[in-house]
Amino acid sequence: MASDQPPALTPQELAKWQFHLRQANDNNIWCHCRQCEYEWVASDFVACDRCGSRNVQHIPCWQFPDD
Ligand SMILES: [Zn+2]
Repeated sequence: MASDQPPALTPQELAKWQFHLRQANDNNIWCHCRQCEYEWVASDFVACDRCGSRNVQHIPCWQFPDD
């Protein structure tokens, strides 16, 4: 085992962490249309895909508690 590696983070753990980080950056906003009740996850603050309404509630996913 190489001694110059950080003790707490294996290459597997690092890859997993980077994957989650990428996912969080890609799809991090939970959207809820108040007009038609449609729900989706997006990477940006967008209008409703289904009805085109801009009356959309945006909640960043990192506000949700982890179980
Ligand atoms: Zn809608």
